[in-house]
Amino acid sequence: MDLTALNLAEVRDAVRSKTASAKEVALAHLERINREDRNVRSYLTLSPERALEQAARVDRAVASGDPLGRLAGVPIAVKDVILTRGVRTTCASRILEHYIPPYDATAVERLEAAGACILGKTNCDEFAMGSSTENSGFFPTRNPHDLERVPGGSSGGSAAAVAANLATVALGSDTGGSIRQPAALCGVAGLMGTYGRVSRFGLVAFASSLDHIGPFGRSVRDLAAVLQTIAGRDPHDSTSADVPVPDYEAELEGGIEGLRVGIPREYFAGLSAEIGDPIQRGIDLLQNIGCEMVPVTLPHTDYAIACYYIIATAEASSNLARYDGVRYGLRASEYDDLRDMYERTRDAGFGAEVKRRIMLGTYVLSSGYYEAYYLKAQRVRSLLARDFNEAFRSVDVIVTPTSPVPAFKIGERSDDPLQMYLADIYTVTASLAGIPGVSVPCGRTQGDEASGVPPLPVGMQLLGRHFDEARLLRAAYAFERAGGFDRG
Ligand code: GLN
Repeated sequence: MDLTALNLAEVRDAVRSKTASAKEVALAHLERINREDRNVRSYLTLSPERALEQAARVDRAVASGDPLGRLAGVPIAVKDVILTRGVRTTCASRILEHYIPPYDATAVERLEAAGACILGKTNCDEFAMGSSTENSGFFPTRNPHDLERVPGGSSGGSAAAVAANLATVALGSDTGGSIRQPAALCGVAGLMGTYGRVSRFGLVAFASSLDHIGPFGRSVRDLAAVLQTIAGRDPHDSTSADVPVPDYEAELEGGIEGLRVGIPREYFAGLSAEIGDPIQRGIDLLQNIGCEMVPVTLPHTDYAIACYYIIATAEASSNLARYDGVRYGLRASEYDDLRDMYERTRDAGFGAEVKRRIMLGTYVLSSGYYEAYYLKAQRVRSLLARDFNEAFRSVDVIVTPTSPVPAFKIGERSDDPLQMYLADIYTVTASLAGIPGVSVPCGRTQGDEASGVPPLPVGMQLLGRHFDEARLLRAAYAFERAGGFDRG
């Protein structure tokens, strides 16, 4: 049995039934990573000791018949913007290259308490700023479906690791699409819960009003099991919500007969056939399994990218002020005075995209421009949220493409930040509105044999009402099963 090919429920059953030990499962993954990750390059740091110690704990519990956690023996990869005590956490930035956190993120703590084994930390765009993982301060990650292509971003390492069977599930972070978009480009499932559903304690801040932690998996059930484990109020994060956590796994089976599914006009105008055709087939499939399709409109969609890139950069410029050469990580070795030390440290430690965002964010917050940009963007944000509230009066979920393009070639877009930003059009809206979104595999593009383009994964996004993840996952689960998309 190839232990790296199992999904979460299968690993859990294998460990419980003693078909495989947690140690065997962890070792199979570590060996595969050693073999395969030199091509994909999804990990920045491995934590084999930590994974094996945890596996040993699980195996002892199995042997002595002690109760097992929900994720007992499940190998998981963690995006390197999420703190792990004693294990280097870099945010894929040179400025934190040697940073060892003194504590664990709440999500990490909860995963380990449930028996998960952390294999290591995955590559991403520096401080989660990007859509391709090319902005990593170390190296780009490659898409397992075509090594010449990007895995998406910013959580590209986590998506690629799950797609390449280098972890059963993974954690990512999503601020404007960083879980959903790489999930789509790598052909796996990825979930961003409602803002506040999962504690952000120990997630290195990019844009605090938009940041989320969430799971990747090769099936929707895997997302449900991980969300179940990490969701819920955390006294360490005052924005985490005190809303009861339903049994997401149990609720998957409820069926979706009669579900009203909104199709937002604005998200389909100008969509290319290579993405549009698989998505249309996905919509037909939803209809075949009993959903009622309802046209809806989200009229402020055109303003979403501008709004997102003002708010996200404003918050980033403030959050990243803390990397000053004094409190964390890198410090320039030669400098004249304190100010010079700050400048040289930040100049050497941050990459081009991070600098661009700090400058943009500082500009939109500066006196004289604050009202014109930042305050205006906050108003637009309210209008976007209102669009969704209106739409959810007549539908239960909304279906859209996750990304307007499939995985693109490494280097193809990296010189054109605006093109890169525009590709976030379908994901930033839910982030700004604070509603949950999931991306599930929805077939592939046709590819073009003559020019050597393989068929590439396409993702379908489902959006739901605040704290309605159970229904969202149920819809995604029914869709995945009807389309056979959980079988790769
Ligand atoms: N691609 C978007 C950006 O560059 C989203 C990133 C994210 O969600 N962390 O900001």
